[in-house]
Amino acid sequence: MRSPIRPVTRRFSGWGRGVSAVAPSYRPQGTAEIADALDACRRSGQSVTVRGGGRSYGDSALPADGVVLDLSAHTAVSAGPGDGEVTARSGTRLRDLLAYVLKDGRMLGGIPGSPDVSVGGAIGHSVHGKDAHLFGDFANNVVAMTVLFADGTIQRLDRSADETRWQAIVGGMGLTGVILEATVTPFAIDGEAVAVRQRKFSSIRDLPPLFDEAENAGEMAVAWVDGFTSRGRGILETGRWVRSRDAGAGAPFGADRSSRLGGLFGIGLGMVNNRALMRALNHVHYTLSGRSAAETTVSADGFLFPIARRFPNHYRLFPGGLYEMQVFVPAESFIDFYSEIVTTGRRSGCESWLAGVKRHRPDPHVMSFSGQGYSITIDLPGRTVRSGVFPAFLDHLAATTARAGGHFNPSKDAVLTAGQFEATCHWLDHLLAVKHELDPSWVLSTGMGRRLVEPLYRARYGYPAG
Ligand SMILES: Cc1cc2nc3c(=O)[nH]c(=O)nc-3n(C[C@H](O)[C@H](O)[C@H](O)COP(=O)(O)OP(=O)(O)OC[C@H]3O[C@@H](n4cnc5c(N)ncnc54)[C@H](O)[C@@H]3O)c2cc1C
Repeated sequence: MRSPIRPVTRRFSGWGRGVSAVAPSYRPQGTAEIADALDACRRSGQSVTVRGGGRSYGDSALPADGVVLDLSAHTAVSAGPGDGEVTARSGTRLRDLLAYVLKDGRMLGGIPGSPDVSVGGAIGHSVHGKDAHLFGDFANNVVAMTVLFADGTIQRLDRSADETRWQAIVGGMGLTGVILEATVTPFAIDGEAVAVRQRKFSSIRDLPPLFDEAENAGEMAVAWVDGFTSRGRGILETGRWVRSRDAGAGAPFGADRSSRLGGLFGIGLGMVNNRALMRALNHVHYTLSGRSAAETTVSADGFLFPIARRFPNHYRLFPGGLYEMQVFVPAESFIDFYSEIVTTGRRSGCESWLAGVKRHRPDPHVMSFSGQGYSITIDLPGRTVRSGVFPAFLDHLAATTARAGGHFNPSKDAVLTAGQFEATCHWLDHLLAVKHELDPSWVLSTGMGRRLVEPLYRARYGYPAG
């Protein structure tokens, strides 16, 4: 007979370090221990927060008030069950899954900017990567999942046969079920390295045609925009898979290659950083980048995870922690939306210190955070978010997003109110309905669930049910 695992009390933070909470946590290994821990919590009336790699910026993997189920020890990757398929336990980090598939010359799509995101977190937040305009979200790789539901039942879901439950789990934000393992189908790539090209643009209006070119050429693409300028100048970086003898062949994702120097630089910069310095750094970056149209070849992790590699704890660059918001807007609203937000940000002292733009295509998932159009990230230091200027900026941002038919990415959020979430979340009805069907007692909860979803659930269904 197994001895029961015991909870340990720990402090957990969002990746941006703006929010944290102390809670008892279980770190189970294997399905039986996970099911036991969930069962113990359900019987004692404590809510359970599922936590993967802890790479969400805000409170989506922080406890509401109960217990954390930390799945970081629930890891394994193996071939099968079908031909060419690979199955990973949900706590497996993407760096380990990618190392496994890349050794056979294969890849997965929808890889986000941190290699330490877990398989469960990638599905639970329907994450995307630099191929978002070509491939869509990470969940598009997945053909089957094994899920532990809040009532203790375990079910193997087949993508084509279990549409209703599938649509309840992908993008479920840790509120609809515990993903135990996932089976993915990697695709073949031309080589293990990436040929990268940088193109400068002097105005945000020039960016969509550059994305068109990248999309037509089948290239991955991401843009960096200087949020301190009104015209929105920046750099579009594109990449395509190529063979290379000298660009990180071998197992680039297997080892932690994070830069110690970058980490120290980040700490130092974070101590003196302010708007003027960040404006100057943006200027230097724009001036020095993209001067040559020639391609350079870099390792896969150099292209996919540039910030995580150079500045492993890049939240340290931001005084008071990093608050990232990511807004998705339809393509036809993108230019006007960008101009409006940048102008308001500059007037109110809330310019994005770093701003990324990606293009997205629609996904087959109801709770996909993408959609046809563009996403823009807004990075602000905690010092600004906690100042008196921020609430008015956030109100304006949320209202402008709602008017544009856009929405926010929950995996980055720590600041929205339930009302702002309701006004911008196009999959809210679906989320509330599947929550009501699968977990009306709110056994599964999170800090974000409590802040954004519970008030809306209560208004619709009463809470707790039963
Ligand atoms: C440097 C950096 C770059 C990033 N770049 C991108 C990007 O390019 N694109 C993008 O989309 N995101 C990006 N992100 C955000 C990140 O991909 C998401 O927040 C992701 O969900 C984090 O996964 P995680 O394993 O760390 O999960 P956590 O942060 O621990 O959890 C995320 C959510 O998933 C739930 N969850 C976790 N495991 C499970 C499970 N087994 N079953 C059910 N639910 C589960 C949690 O309850 C929580 O709601 C980035 C983050 C960082 C730090």
